[in-house]
Amino acid sequence: MAWFKRARKPIVSGSKDKASRVPEGLWVKCPSCSQAIYNKDLAASLNVCPKCGHHFRVSAAERLKMLFDDGAWTEHDRDLRSTDPLNFTDTKPYKARLTATIAATGLKDAVIVGTGRIEGIETVVAAMEYGFIGGSMGVVVGEKITRAVERALARRSPLVIVCCSGGARMMEGALSLMQMAKICGALARLDRERLPYISVLTDPTTGGVTASFAMLGDLNVAEPKALIGFAGPRVIEQTIRQKLPEGFQRSEFLLEKGMIDLVIDRRELKATLAQALRFMGAAPAEAPSPPRAERPEVSEPAPQT
Ligand SMILES: [Zn+2]
Repeated sequence: MAWFKRARKPIVSGSKDKASRVPEGLWVKCPSCSQAIYNKDLAASLNVCPKCGHHFRVSAAERLKMLFDDGAWTEHDRDLRSTDPLNFTDTKPYKARLTATIAATGLKDAVIVGTGRIEGIETVVAAMEYGFIGGSMGVVVGEKITRAVERALARRSPLVIVCCSGGARMMEGALSLMQMAKICGALARLDRERLPYISVLTDPTTGGVTASFAMLGDLNVAEPKALIGFAGPRVIEQTIRQKLPEGFQRSEFLLEKGMIDLVIDRRELKATLAQALRFMGAAPAEAPSPPRAERPEVSEPAPQT
């Protein structure tokens, strides 16, 4: 026989019922400072933790929405998709992986290219989507970004690429590596035409993307604490047989070493891009060019004979 007997009914805690009333996903816990953040507050601060400034990863569509005026843009080459040229299979066939990712993300590949205005300046922006096979660069990403550069050339407008990628897409083998040269070739033409190109490096930017267009901007800017590098730290440590310094491959470290030009808080990104584009000679589309008649005639140099 037991020594004690519970005479009264135990107090029933209502917490279980209460918890079920809060819709899932209403609060997000910051991985950096453990602060619980209300979803709408997080969205309002462009997915940056209001307490510690941790930058959450954002999708390509959200990125374009926050960069373009009124969140409006025209998308290009939406329907390009990979044909699986190598008939590749790893843990599952690449074709099946593509089909599943297309269904999950609603995108055909890992980049969205759009044209719109940034503080009135007509700009071509390519934003990479990490959710699509790690933002990896295959034939489609290469082609879409190359076309984005050509579009900027044709329209004589500046180009912004928002990088977010694990590197080249291994399922497309050497074909994905060729995209590095292809995009760089197109960017060289943009450079010769003296049109501005700004590269925005976000967490993470690694591998073949870092080794090509991500580092070729007239201005290379990064978001705070973004992982930016070529090979992973473990591979480097094994190769050079040395311990790597603290904060290695993060934006602030790369800024200190002169690899990038600026570290910008996402909440100031759009204004900073617009300011840089204006500095590089891009003019808002609305601003009318000065009428020719008002220009003094003497400023025209007389033809020398
Ligand atoms: Zn935080």
